[in-house]
Amino acid sequence: MNPPNTIVAIDGYSSCGKSTVAKELAKKLHFVYVDTGAMYRAVTLYFVRNRVNLDDLHQVEEALKNIHIDFHKEEDVTHILLNGEDVSEEIRKMHISEQVSAVSALKAVRQAMVKQQQRMGSKRNVVMDGRDIGTAVFPHAQVKIFMTADPKVRAERRYLELTQKGESVTLEEVFENIAHRDYQDTTRKESPLTRADDAIILDNTELNQEQQLEFVLDKVKLAVPHSII
Ligand code: C5P
Repeated sequence: MNPPNTIVAIDGYSSCGKSTVAKELAKKLHFVYVDTGAMYRAVTLYFVRNRVNLDDLHQVEEALKNIHIDFHKEEDVTHILLNGEDVSEEIRKMHISEQVSAVSALKAVRQAMVKQQQRMGSKRNVVMDGRDIGTAVFPHAQVKIFMTADPKVRAERRYLELTQKGESVTLEEVFENIAHRDYQDTTRKESPLTRADDAIILDNTELNQEQQLEFVLDKVKLAVPHSII
């Protein structure tokens, strides 16, 4: 009999480097990587472009029916497609970061995304990162990691990333955005960001990428030794 598929859930605060660790881990384990934040960002982009009124449930539900999100992997880089359009770059911009927490707080949006995420992880081995993976999407995930880091360090890292891509933002704006998203994500009614009781904390304030990968690989080895090849 085949062993059941393995889920590694990585949750945590904004700009903690979750996706970097998750991507590296998935590569190492030959698992599928699912960036759920990108899914909420793609929905947000659609809502912004189509001026969907977040207070109008009917409009939100109709819009969700028209949204198809896919991931497409090309030479190690995963692209996100919104109705067939590659929006990987667009969804990282500040104007989307400023709206995404309000959009992802909506119950209808969460239900649609969670359903798709559960389908993605129903048969395959996956590393999934987000805010509610270990608590709501896969509460029985074999490995749960909760990532955190000093907010100042997080802001500096994100600031560098954005300015290197040519976006004109200030460090203060990035810091404010991260703080605001953390506040909205932890205080919302629908599956707020919180550490699952059985999640292992990874504070990466002073860790480099190699050390973080080693940390999570160790946890996977302990919990699901057969998943290591
Ligand atoms: O991970 P990332 O920073 O790209 O996520 C963007 C936003 O999407 C978060 O601030 C949060 O509001 C929302 N999100 C969520 N649940 C997830 C993943 C992301 O609510 N599982």
